Amino acid sequence: MTSHAFDTSAAGRAAVCPFMPVFGPPQVMFVRGEGTELWDVDGKRYLDFLCGLAVTSLGHSNPAVTRAITEQAGRLLHVSNFFTNDAATAAAVALRDLLTEATGDVGQVFFCNSGAEANEAALKLARKFGGRGRHVVISAYGSFHGRTLAALAATGQPAKHEPFFPMPDGFRHVAYGDLAALEAAIDPSVSAVIIETVQGEGGVVPADPEYLRGIRRVCDERGMLLILDEVQTGFARTGRWFGFQHAGVRPDVVTMAKAMGNGFPVGAVWARTDVAAAFQPGDHGSTYSGTAIATAVVRTVIEEMRRLDAPALAETKGASLRAKLEAIPQVRSVRGQGLLLAAELGDGADAKAVYTELLARGLVTNAVTATALRLAPPITVSGAEIDEAVALIADVLAAGIGGPA
Ligand code: PLP
Repeated sequence: MTSHAFDTSAAGRAAVCPFMPVFGPPQVMFVRGEGTELWDVDGKRYLDFLCGLAVTSLGHSNPAVTRAITEQAGRLLHVSNFFTNDAATAAAVALRDLLTEATGDVGQVFFCNSGAEANEAALKLARKFGGRGRHVVISAYGSFHGRTLAALAATGQPAKHEPFFPMPDGFRHVAYGDLAALEAAIDPSVSAVIIETVQGEGGVVPADPEYLRGIRRVCDERGMLLILDEVQTGFARTGRWFGFQHAGVRPDVVTMAKAMGNGFPVGAVWARTDVAAAFQPGDHGSTYSGTAIATAVVRTVIEEMRRLDAPALAETKGASLRAKLEAIPQVRSVRGQGLLLAAELGDGADAKAVYTELLARGLVTNAVTATALRLAPPITVSGAEIDEAVALIADVLAAGIGGPA
């Protein structure tokens, strides 16, 4: 136990921990970060190969992001949506241009505060687009779309629904990767499909490009919207600006969050202009939509990522990390795209034990399934940091920790 560990017994938690117990007991208290490095309250250094779950893609305390926050905070934080502000307008144009480059289409954006909120907006847009009686959205088993009620209903993980029954109506789940199952689930009540190009929380499982192209074709044939949830895959993580670019599909709606704020809470939904037109004033909103401080960050993240050519960096560094992980004898396979990877340790392995030992040795990762370790370092990670992380993983696995029983 480190000095900052909480007492996690029921009595101790009630007495000490100020957080609601929706998360497991916190294991480390971090106080500072720079680039790929983090330091805890005891001064211990860690390498962050998780990035707050694919969030701090430009590294901790990125100077351009810090400057944007401090400059904007000294000038204008927020005005209501009766007005706009220069930061929101510049960010909306930058984001719209990025999506036009990626899709070939012209669209419009709505800013919000998280991935779940981006999906909520997309789901409401699908209902408005479909019209009365055409409100059902199909999603995949294993998907993750957020924790608010409708985003949770879209999430294809029944165990997460169970404590909150009854769930909102209008969601249907099909096996990920099975186009025939998706087609069989369509009836006149279906307005849209929402899908991840790589299931992140579901285990870092990339969709087959043919499957994504098939969904696009089916959506076109049946007049349904294709909503791509790029909350985890977006903003260069997979080696392209957006995951759908690997498959060459053109979405109608894209949801984003995480890396677009590099740690500042912000999300967005983009829709082609003819689809966005289904929304009328009063249909949707948020006090903080387009708040100046968050959108100043969005614009800076886009500028910084363009300056660095972040997609190319994620692709080359991802290829290097993947090859080095594949060379570890205990790693059965590596899946994912760019710098969103999972090292599969094989049947009977205990990824949680590996994660725990790596954390103790100063490497932050995540056991994304019982047998796989998720790695999502910043796009700015150095070759030396990749080598250091891989050596730590190889050492832990060579010691037999978390190996098949
Ligand atoms: N969609 C995907 C694909 C995600 O990975 C996540 C979060 O992990 C979400 C939505 C929810 O985002 P947030 O936690 O910002 O609400």
